[in-house]
Amino acid sequence: MAEIQSLVWQHKGFVTLGAALSSFVLGVTVPVHSPPPQGVKLQVPRLTGGAEEIAEVPAVKPGVEQRVKGFTLAVATIEKEKANSVTFSVPARFQGQIFYDLTSTAKEKVVALTFDDGPWPDTLPVLDILKRNNIKATFFWVGRHLQKYPDIARKVVAEGHAIGNHTWNHRYEPVDEPTAAKEIGSTAALIYKITGVSTSLFRPPGGYLDSGFAAWAQKQKMAVAMWSTDTQESSYPSSEQIVRTVLDDIQSGGVVLMHDGGGEHSATVRALPQIIAELKKRGYKFVTLPELLQMKDKQLQVAAAAKSANRAGGQTKPPVNPEQ
Ligand SMILES: [Zn+2]
Repeated sequence: MAEIQSLVWQHKGFVTLGAALSSFVLGVTVPVHSPPPQGVKLQVPRLTGGAEEIAEVPAVKPGVEQRVKGFTLAVATIEKEKANSVTFSVPARFQGQIFYDLTSTAKEKVVALTFDDGPWPDTLPVLDILKRNNIKATFFWVGRHLQKYPDIARKVVAEGHAIGNHTWNHRYEPVDEPTAAKEIGSTAALIYKITGVSTSLFRPPGGYLDSGFAAWAQKQKMAVAMWSTDTQESSYPSSEQIVRTVLDDIQSGGVVLMHDGGGEHSATVRALPQIIAELKKRGYKFVTLPELLQMKDKQLQVAAAAKSANRAGGQTKPPVNPEQ
């Protein structure tokens, strides 16, 4: 993902800076309201000190000053965009890896709800339910839907949810590497352009791991996010069935696959508040996938440290043998 991220960044920075530079070179002025300087009085200090000579330097051409201001403005815009950007990175151990669930051994029970195939108008009722319950989820976006509904995308990000890449066209059939690169890369670029988000999370359409997309994402060090519970919305279950599927299956560290639209969708929207209420009752906390990955990473670090401490302890202990 670092490659995509830096590519996107370089591209974006290049375009903005390039526009400013070409405006400077080509003499396209940026309108400013301050009057152009008519001439500049310059104080020149004498080497001997004391009195100063006043020299007059030629007036700066107004166009040049305005162009400089335009350039400065463009640089400031880049800095502002950088400050507004959000990065959903994944810990090193998960980069280029496929994960299904992140079974947690922590005392605190956690679950990650994920919603695929948006953003689109069907996302809005899901967002409302999440907001009412003050919980964050993870949305896997399809580039061509994102292109159509940028405002909904910005709302999802503004409300604090995490974002993953779900390709541009959501194709199921196998693709060659350049196609995979284009589908995932163009979606990553548009996610960044519209929302300022860079994401290292990827989910292949239909969950097909052998279609070429997952392999390319792994090469880019993205984490391929599968799931541990599938609500099977493609078979149009009732809301009761969806609730039962999730609640029967769930365990701490679980990743729930749902869809925020793409056909008749009211069962999911009806099921969601019941799922959330019951899981809250069971003591679950709702986390995003990047949060879940961070938690799992910390647990594994602690476990590894404890293991090596035990090993080191065992090595340094003097041999206990009463016979000797
Ligand atoms: Zn999908």
